Amino acid sequence: MVLHFNDEEKAFLASVQQFVDEVALPQTRVWEKSTFPKDIWTICAAKGFTSCVLPKEYGGRGYSCQTYAEMCRILAKGDPALSMNVAAVNALCVAHFEHFANDEQRAKYLPGVLDGSIPLSWGLTEPDAGSDARRVKTFATPIEGRPGYFHLNGEKMFITNGGFAKLFIIIARVSDTELSAFFMEKDQPGFEEVGRIATTGVSASYTLHFRMKDAVAWHTPGSFEQVISLLYRGRIGIGAMALGIAEKALEEGIEYAKGREQFNRPLAQMQSVQNMVAESAMQVEAARLLVHQAAWMYDQGLPVVKESSYAKLFASEAARDVTNKMLQIHGGRGMTFDFLIEKLWRDAKLTEIGEGATEIQKLIIAKALLK
Ligand SMILES: Cc1cc2nc3c(=O)[nH]c(=O)nc-3n(C[C@H](O)[C@H](O)[C@H](O)COP(=O)(O)OP(=O)(O)OC[C@H]3O[C@@H](n4cnc5c(N)ncnc54)[C@H](O)[C@@H]3O)c2cc1C
Repeated sequence: MVLHFNDEEKAFLASVQQFVDEVALPQTRVWEKSTFPKDIWTICAAKGFTSCVLPKEYGGRGYSCQTYAEMCRILAKGDPALSMNVAAVNALCVAHFEHFANDEQRAKYLPGVLDGSIPLSWGLTEPDAGSDARRVKTFATPIEGRPGYFHLNGEKMFITNGGFAKLFIIIARVSDTELSAFFMEKDQPGFEEVGRIATTGVSASYTLHFRMKDAVAWHTPGSFEQVISLLYRGRIGIGAMALGIAEKALEEGIEYAKGREQFNRPLAQMQSVQNMVAESAMQVEAARLLVHQAAWMYDQGLPVVKESSYAKLFASEAARDVTNKMLQIHGGRGMTFDFLIEKLWRDAKLTEIGEGATEIQKLIIAKALLK
């Protein structure tokens, strides 16, 4: 399966590669010790990373899902945490402006989103609501005399980019049975930061836990099912991120196997090592096909409910297996911080959990097939 890009998309992807070579990869160890530089979102915005899939009529680049997936893959080869952030900002946050914001909301926030001065986050997960998203407790109460505005009360955790975000898209309960989405600005008395959540992988990402106490929020039209459907393209992005991690790990493993000698021959000449390389290469290529298939189908306007889950599930397991095998090839050095492979191994784990754990992807696939 061959992806198709127009000349503008090709030039864009070349610029993503250049950013990875010159900035992301050289900085990835620095970033993971704390977080991204302060101006990361103005940089990403200027390069079009955050407006990649937003239609041109709203000031975005209007690129295809195939381009989005390639961007996520390439970024992950430089810094998986940045890939995850850019993927989520595009598929869940910026896409929310396209599908669920009204003109007034777009006019107020989109210019800042597009120049990077308004970084975004997407908040669904809560202490008691993870895989079971319908358990969300954050409650939205209409504010009297301010149509469209609500008070939010509740708690959100594991929110990617929460430390940088100035605007959140919050999923909250509007009745006992209904959930919907809201724009909520961080800079207000009702927002209370609980703290940053440190994670074992993708640790450059500023993952936030916060509370809302009568936080003022602006309702965005759209049912829970509509809003949550943005996850289908999101999962293609996480699948592409996993693919990038697996590809990079394979490259690292091959280079190491060629350079390291034991028993008077390079590791690359040992059949057990060759088997690990061969199996990993096959997993990478199979993951690539599933990610490409889902992205291509999305661009054709076809449903990708199960295909996005195939891509995310398979690519994340490939990333887990390939990083594990390539770390094995590195031997003891693979467990030190001197080699990138241990970081890729840790970063890969997120792809099996974020935007729906592996088990949830299986439920989605089974539901689609058994209906
Ligand atoms: C680094 C990071 C970034 C994140 N970013 C965001 C973000 O930006 N916004 C956001 O809203 N959330 C975010 N999340 C949250 C993420 O989406 C959840 O962690 C994920 O959906 C799983 O929810 P949970 O952690 O509550 O696990 P739980 O729901 O408690 O599940 C734990 C495990 O139980 C199993 N399980 C659960 N339900 C079932 C079932 N029905 N059948 C079989 N097995 C099941 C699975 O193995 C699962 O991994 C992030 C998480 C991480 C780690």
